[in-house]
Amino acid sequence: MVKSGCGFETMSLHPYLFRAIKKKGYTLPTPIQRKVIPVALSGQDMIAVARTGSGKTAAFLIPMIQKLKEHSTVVGARGLVISPTRELAMQTLKFAIELCKFSSLKVCVLVGGEGLKNEFSKLAENPDIIIATPGRLMHFILELNYSLASVEMVVLDESDRLIEMGLMEQVQEILSSTTNPNKQTLCFSATLPEFLTQFAKTGLSHPTLVKLDQEY
Ligand code: ADP
Ligand code: MG
Repeated sequence: MVKSGCGFETMSLHPYLFRAIKKKGYTLPTPIQRKVIPVALSGQDMIAVARTGSGKTAAFLIPMIQKLKEHSTVVGARGLVISPTRELAMQTLKFAIELCKFSSLKVCVLVGGEGLKNEFSKLAENPDIIIATPGRLMHFILELNYSLASVEMVVLDESDRLIEMGLMEQVQEILSSTTNPNKQTLCFSATLPEFLTQFAKTGLSHPTLVKLDQEY
C-alpha cells in the first residue's frame, strides 16, 4: 500500500534529483531515509544508526546532492564521503554517479589501487563530491597539499567499521583539515559503539541521533 504524504515528492528535491531517484526504481523512501533526509537538509550534524541494507547510502547522498545543487567552478570539493574500504567507496561512487546523472555535479573517488597520477588528474576537473578511503585521502592532503577547506558536508559511512579497522585517527586528522566553519558532519553506522557516542561529543556540533532498531 502506498501511503500518501511520505514519498520523495514531499521533500522538495530538485527535479533532476527526483528524476534520478525514479530512474533507480525507488518509489518510497525507506524509514531511515524518511527520518534522515529532512534533518540533514536542515543543516544539523547527525549520527544515523540503522541496520545494513536499510538504505543509508541514499539517505546521505540525496541531501548532499540537494545541497550542492550544481557544479561549482570555485576550487575545491564541497561534499566528502569517507568509506572504510575501497570496495565500499567504489559502490558509493557508482550510486552517486547515478543520482547525479541529470545534474552538472562531478563526483570522483580517491581510493588507491589506481595510479596516483590518474587520481590526481581527476582532481583537476574540480569534483564537487569526493568519495575516499582515509589513507588515500591523507596522502593527497599531506603529500600533494590538497585542501579540504571548501568542504561543506562530510559523511563518515560505516562509522562502526572505521572504528573497528583502526581508521579513526586518520579520520580525525581529515576532519581537522575540513576548516569551513559552516561544515556539517554526518555519521552513518549499523551499530552505535561507545566510541562513536564519545566521538560525537567532541567531533560533532550538537548532533541529532536518528536510530532505527527495526525497519520495513
Ligand atoms: P545500507 O547502507 O543501509 O546497508 P544501502 O544503501 O546499501 O543500505 O541500500 C541497500 C539496498 O536498498 C540497495 O540495493 C539500494 O539500492 C536499496 N534501496 C535504497 N533505498 C531504496 C528505496 N527508497 N527504495 C527501494 N530500494 C532502495
Ligand atoms: Mg552502507
